[in-house]
Amino acid sequence: MPEQHALAPHPIGLYLNPEGQRRVDFQTSCGAQFGKLFIADGTEQASVLLAQQAVDLLVIDLERFEHSFDLAALRELVAQRAGKRTLLICPFMSAGWLPDLMAMGPIEYAISPLLDEDLRASIAARPAAARQDAADLRALLAAGTLLQQSIADVDDLDKMAEQVCVALGRLPGVVHVSLFHMRDMGDLELEAQYSSIGFNLTRLLLRPDRLLQSPLRHAFPGLLAVCSGEIVLLDAPAKAGEPELAISLADIGVGMVLGLPLPVSRAGQIRGSLCLMFDHARQFSADEVASFVALAQLAGFGLRMAEMSRENEQLQGRLTRLATTDALTGTANRRHGESLLEREARRARRYKLPLALIAFDIDRFKAINDQFGHPVGDAAIRAVAEVAQAALRISDVLVRSGGAEFQIIAPHTSAIDALKIAEKLRMAIAAADVAGCDRLTISLGVGQMTEQESPDALAVRVAAALARAKRAGRNCVELAMQ
Ligand code: GH3
Ligand code: MG
Repeated sequence: MPEQHALAPHPIGLYLNPEGQRRVDFQTSCGAQFGKLFIADGTEQASVLLAQQAVDLLVIDLERFEHSFDLAALRELVAQRAGKRTLLICPFMSAGWLPDLMAMGPIEYAISPLLDEDLRASIAARPAAARQDAADLRALLAAGTLLQQSIADVDDLDKMAEQVCVALGRLPGVVHVSLFHMRDMGDLELEAQYSSIGFNLTRLLLRPDRLLQSPLRHAFPGLLAVCSGEIVLLDAPAKAGEPELAISLADIGVGMVLGLPLPVSRAGQIRGSLCLMFDHARQFSADEVASFVALAQLAGFGLRMAEMSRENEQLQGRLTRLATTDALTGTANRRHGESLLEREARRARRYKLPLALIAFDIDRFKAINDQFGHPVGDAAIRAVAEVAQAALRISDVLVRSGGAEFQIIAPHTSAIDALKIAEKLRMAIAAADVAGCDRLTISLGVGQMTEQESPDALAVRVAAALARAKRAGRNCVELAMQ
C-alpha cells in the first residue's frame, strides 16, 4: 500500500494550465496552501521549472489540454517526478488521460469540475481511497476471465452482451452495468443491462429508442462515451450538470458512473460503450484503471467478433440465395432445381409417395421478343413466373429451367393431380393480362416418377411430353408416357 502523506508545512508547488483565467483562479483559491507556488502555461515551461526547483506537488490541470498534441510531453513531465507527488485535475468527460498518464508513475487525480474546497482537500493530502485494494484487483482479473469465457463461447451478440454485463456486475461496489451498441446504420441501443439492485436503466434514459438524440447524451457516461469516444468518469452525479439525472442516480444509491467507449466497427470507430455504476465514489489505482481499459477492449473485441459472425451468416445467406435463385424471376435456378428434384425423388422413394414433374414453355416467345423487344420479353417471363407462383401450393417448387422454360416439382402429387395443376396453370396464363403482349400461352408436359426411374429420366420424359404439346398446336397439356 503506498504511504499516505500530507504536504510538507511550506511546500513548493507548480500549477500547469494553458488558460490564463484558470491559472489566476487556482492561485486565488489554493495559493495559500503553498510556501511557494510556481505557475506554468505550457509543458516546456513546466519542464524547465521542474528541473530548477524541488517541486513537492505538481498540479496538472488537464482542462484545455489536447490529448493528441500534449500527451507525449505530459507523459514526460510525469515520468520526471521520481517519487514526488503529482495531482491530475481531470475533466470528467476526458478520463482517458488517466490510464495514459497513470502508467508513467504514481499519480493522484481529482475529477473536475471541482468545488474549491474539494480541490484544496486534494492538494492537502492524498485521498485515503487511493490505496490499491488487492481484493478489488483480484475481482477485476476474475471479471476479465469471465469475459474471455463469454467471448469464446458465444457467437450470438445479444447473449454475449448480456454475459459481459453479468461478468462486470459482480465487481465490488458495482450496482449496475449496461452495454450500449450501435448496430449497422441504426441508432444506439441499450443492448444489455445487469443490476444487482434490480434497477432498470430504461427508466432513466427517457428516450430508449433514439439514444443519440437523448437529452442525456452530454451527461450520462454510457452515452457520452459513445458520442465523444472518451472514457468518462463521473465521480459525483451532480458534476454532469443535469440536476434531474443527479437526483435519479442519488435516489438509487449511485455515487459514481464510469463510461468506457468500445471500438466495435471494422475501422475501429466507437460504436458502443460499457457503463458501470458504483455505489460510492472512490479513487482508482493505476492498475484498476488499466484493468478497466483492458476489460473494455476485450468486450469491444467480443462484440466485434459477434458482429462479424452475424455478418458472415448474412453473407453466407446472400451467397446461397444468389447461387440458387434465378435473377430475372426470383424462382429457383436450373442447378438448384436439379438438386431439389433429386432431394424430392429420394424422399418420395423412401416414403413411397408420388412425385410429379411439370415442364412448360412459353409459346412463340421468339415472336414476342422480335415484335416488342427484349425488355418486354423479360417482363413477360417475369409475369408468367408470378402467375405460376400464385397458382401453386406452398410445397410445389417453381424452377426457371431455361430461357422461357420452367419446371414445377410437385411432391405428394400423382399424374392425375399434376394434370389438374397443369390445366389450371395453362388457363391462368392464357387469362393473364401481360403488359406489352397481346396474348400469352404456354404448353405443358406432365409426368409422375415411376418406381425405378431416376430424376434425369423423369425430366427427359416430361420434356418429350412438352415437345408433343408443342407439336399438337401449343396452349395444351400432354401427359408423359411411361
Ligand atoms: P415455341 O412455341 O416452339 O417454344 O416457340 P418459341 O419462339 O418460344 O421458341 P423457343 O422456346 O425455342 O424460344 C425461346 C426464346 O426465348 C429464344 C430466346 O431468344 C428467348 N429467350 C431466352 N431467354 C430469354 C430471356 O431471358 N429474356 C428474353 N426476353 N428472351 C429470352
Ligand atoms: Mg418457347
